[in-house]
Amino acid sequence: MLYFDSHIHTDNSPDGRFSASQMCEAAVKKGLDLITFCDHCEIDEFYSDNYDTRTVKAFADYCDAKERFSDSLTVLSGIEIGQPDIDKSFAYKIVSAHKYDYVLASLHHPHGKMPDIKDIEYDKIDVYRFMEDYFSELYEMAKWDGCDALAHLTCPMRRIQGKYQINFDYSVIQEATDELLAEIIRQKKAVEINTSGLRQAVGRTMPDENILIRYRQLGGKYVTVGSDAHSTDDIGAGIKEGIEKARKCGFGQITVFINREKKLIDIT
Ligand SMILES: [Zn+2]
Ligand SMILES: [Zn+2]
Repeated sequence: MLYFDSHIHTDNSPDGRFSASQMCEAAVKKGLDLITFCDHCEIDEFYSDNYDTRTVKAFADYCDAKERFSDSLTVLSGIEIGQPDIDKSFAYKIVSAHKYDYVLASLHHPHGKMPDIKDIEYDKIDVYRFMEDYFSELYEMAKWDGCDALAHLTCPMRRIQGKYQINFDYSVIQEATDELLAEIIRQKKAVEINTSGLRQAVGRTMPDENILIRYRQLGGKYVTVGSDAHSTDDIGAGIKEGIEKARKCGFGQITVFINREKKLIDIT
């Protein structure tokens, strides 16, 4: 079976440390067949964090790596666009500026405001109200026609369940969860199984089985799997576990986006 990783960062992301070439070399060493670069582009920090130049450099690096590694690795070009809902037409311009294979929408700064979800003090807020609001903003992003998939739906759990060890009862937010999943299905978008949580305190994929099973029950078909690697060590990390989880939740295929189109990889 094809060994792939659909979510990898380079040093074109503010939190990335290795060049596209270094990431490709590591991917080849680990036996990967296909990788998709998805560097950050946060809409709310577009100019203040130099994403105007970062996105151009990133895309050029992907093209260069694609050519350089053409014998050993399929290199795809993606973007992880943060908070596209706060300015959908501007976001659309950004994702249309290059011939991306994959547009992954994510929510790191709810409503385009700080703090980042990783810096929120979850022991001081109502986590259920926060997650309901988080899912309703993701619902807005699902409606946006500029993206192919939604990244790490339950990313705040890295802190809520991980760092703060809060016992989160998903049944409290069932309605908001169902509304979000139904919209993703209506829009024929994919849900990303982000495996970075497996190597962090939370110890599970984002989203985890409960949401993947519900997505499947409601008629969801498309899941992507990505490690969200920011370093060479993490390339491919948890991908096999992520695929196994998809299989366990009833999915027979994993989706990889090429040229913004779904390619289904059999996992049965
Ligand atoms: Zn992210
Ligand atoms: Zn990422």
